Amino acid sequence: MNTTTCDAGHRSELNDRTAPPSMRSRPTYSSLSPDTAGAEHLLVIEADALQPGQASALSKSFTSVAEALRTVVSGSELPLPGANVQPDLAATLLAVKARLSGATMQQRVYAIGSEPFIWSIHTAAIDAGLDEKQIRLCHSGSLKRRVWCTHCHETTENVTTNIVACTGCGRRLLVRDHFSRRLGAFMGVQIDAEVPGDVPAIEEVFP
Ligand SMILES: [Zn+2]
Repeated sequence: MNTTTCDAGHRSELNDRTAPPSMRSRPTYSSLSPDTAGAEHLLVIEADALQPGQASALSKSFTSVAEALRTVVSGSELPLPGANVQPDLAATLLAVKARLSGATMQQRVYAIGSEPFIWSIHTAAIDAGLDEKQIRLCHSGSLKRRVWCTHCHETTENVTTNIVACTGCGRRLLVRDHFSRRLGAFMGVQIDAEVPGDVPAIEEVFP
């Protein structure tokens, strides 16, 4: 069977035993393939995150459930006949919520794209009443992160650098590897709390 490969290996791992279990480690991802225990399948794709040829590989992977498959593509068109194309994440989430309204235990949701994208889909599916076991995620494309400020609780999107200014409070945050599944975000902690203005070099580390 064809499966689609995630580039889940290309990142640093940092486990901190002092962190709560929910955010102890980075998520790991496996290839997307249909869960044939389900009867309805919703595949959600971030178009820009795919490599050339990946869309047709996905299509082949899901051939066995093609008759019960709905596909939502976010951002731009892909060579996937019948796909529901949405212009951006907000519109994609509305389409996903509409599709999952009244979803049963037979529903399965699959998402592929950057981590902010796939965890947004994950949150929408959980909000719709689905169980973790009904959701499969695959990271592809950019390593950019959504960062949750531990001080003001705002999120900053599309972070590619090791340090970022919080969009909520303006503090300069060190982007940790601690990940909250509930928030779908990485933790950001003020880096110059001890010595204000003492900020290391800012580097792009999540291209
Ligand atoms: Zn903040």
